Amino acid sequence: MELRSVCVFCGSRRGKKLEYASSTRELAGILVEHNVRLIYGGGNVGLMGILADAFLELGGWVEGVIPKVLLGKEMAHRGLSRLHVVESMHQRKALMASLSDAFIALPGGIGTLEELFEIWTWEKIYYHQKPIGVLDVGDYYRPLRIFLKGMVEEGFLPGSLLSQIVWESCPQRLWEGMLTQASRKSGQKRINS
Ligand code: AMP
Repeated sequence: MELRSVCVFCGSRRGKKLEYASSTRELAGILVEHNVRLIYGGGNVGLMGILADAFLELGGWVEGVIPKVLLGKEMAHRGLSRLHVVESMHQRKALMASLSDAFIALPGGIGTLEELFEIWTWEKIYYHQKPIGVLDVGDYYRPLRIFLKGMVEEGFLPGSLLSQIVWESCPQRLWEGMLTQASRKSGQKRINS
């Protein structure tokens, strides 16, 4: 499976630590270098805006998917390669998922968590078999990982499902892990078909 388009979920705020923004820019650099298109929520605020701007400055292609309600609030990035305006949040997530070959969550708030968990749930029920990664900048997601490991220990989450997620703090290692996961998954697909 080639990773041509990657969907990134990330904060509509930039967070307190400077490294959230610097790792976001670093990831943008790696993706542009590999000719990967960015699919994201279309906003111009927080880490979303930083990510899209970094991509565009480096000459990358950026597609945003935004529901009408956020467009009206002038939160949409106006300089994107392409902006899809959809009716609802549900349509947005479905379109972001169908346009993308893989998904990465950067630090963010409840919107980011919801997007990560939804796409992970869709994998669980075989809606897709695309790689999912978490860029755990500055241990931001450490408490979540501890909680998820607790879910495995308590029997509510199969360990195999948790290990599907590529969980890295360094953008370069995350990208390499995503590529490995993509070739593993396309190997599995061939065996299953
Ligand atoms: P949050 O993590 O709560 O800041 O929400 C960020 C995520 O929710 C992003 O990945 C977006 O898809 C979506 N989102 C939240 N706020 C906005 C906004 N102002 N403009 C565009 N997308 C947003």
